[in-house]
Amino acid sequence: MNPTLTPTIDYLRISLIDRCNFRCTYCMPEEADLTFAARGDLLTAAELLILLREVFIPCGFRRFRLTGGEPLLRPDIVEIVGAIAAFPETQDLSLTTNGFRLASVAKPLYEAGLRRINISLDSLVPATFDQMIGHRGKSRWPEVWAGIQAAHGVGFDPLKLNVVVIPGVNDSEVLEMAGLTIDRAWHVRFIEFMPIGNGDLFADRGWIDSEMIRSQIRDRWGLTSGQVRGNGPADVFQIPGAKGTVGFISQMSECFCDRCNRMRLSADGWLRPCLLNETGQINLREGLRSGQDLGELRSVVAAMVGGKPEINYKMRDAGTTGGYGRSMSQIGG
Ligand code: SAM
Ligand code: SF4
Repeated sequence: MNPTLTPTIDYLRISLIDRCNFRCTYCMPEEADLTFAARGDLLTAAELLILLREVFIPCGFRRFRLTGGEPLLRPDIVEIVGAIAAFPETQDLSLTTNGFRLASVAKPLYEAGLRRINISLDSLVPATFDQMIGHRGKSRWPEVWAGIQAAHGVGFDPLKLNVVVIPGVNDSEVLEMAGLTIDRAWHVRFIEFMPIGNGDLFADRGWIDSEMIRSQIRDRWGLTSGQVRGNGPADVFQIPGAKGTVGFISQMSECFCDRCNRMRLSADGWLRPCLLNETGQINLREGLRSGQDLGELRSVVAAMVGGKPEINYKMRDAGTTGGYGRSMSQIGG
């Protein structure tokens, strides 16, 4: 790799909780033998803020995404957002949510300083949506849609909708999803389905290459290259004249290790340099609770940043299997 092209590692994805109120078939399927961190093992808000202020910010991290599990299950979510937004060094703060609890907290989150939000919405058809989130009974789609409307209403910008496309389940809705961006300044991002933690679903269904989705949209409306503020690996396009954009996250068909600017902190304090590589992870919570000197923790993290593996993984070649193993919710998706 050309060293001048090495990206600065300044982006931390922070999982606030590994639990979730959904059981998405592609992430935490009901039939999986799910294990969660003991509540006492989760980083408290105070511990997380110490790690950010005393370790991550001094090591150069400036951009933060709060995720999970479902981050809105944390009762202290507004307090956490407010504290991170208030760090003078914070250049960017965003949150990824399933949207179910969003309607009531969109405004407090905005007032606490959050401006960017990603909401997962895999289908516009309530029955398909419920099937994908592993829910039976009264549909949860209306609450999520209300959450999206509330986020729009308070002014989140950009507001992104994440769609995991699964063949034979929601792939027939791709055009309708993309069409949402024509009249609304929303940013729909199609994510290639990954074989992480979802058992037989991946083996049964397979995945759809972003280019197949892109070409459907191009054939219908045309596509120009677009732009939207973000830290991620999405390739962004725009339907001509649309207010929003369509993006593609193609971790199956492309390798973007050379663009990777991030590390992941799990809810129980593991710092992980790479989504696909468990080597080199360390537990910062244990260090903190055992009274390890913060300067030492800084040195360990700085060394990890300096030594972030230069690898070139394509998810499909990485040896991940359809077995349950660890899911995106546990890693901090
Ligand atoms: N619960 C929140 C949500 O669903 O938005 C945040 C955590 S979730 C793990 C973060 C993102 O990971 C979601 O957009 C979800 O669709 C995506 N994801 C989870 N499992 C995935 C998989 N197997 N393949 C592709 N994306 C996945
Ligand atoms: Fe929960 Fe998000 Fe995983 Fe769905 S994708 S099970 S909402 S963590």
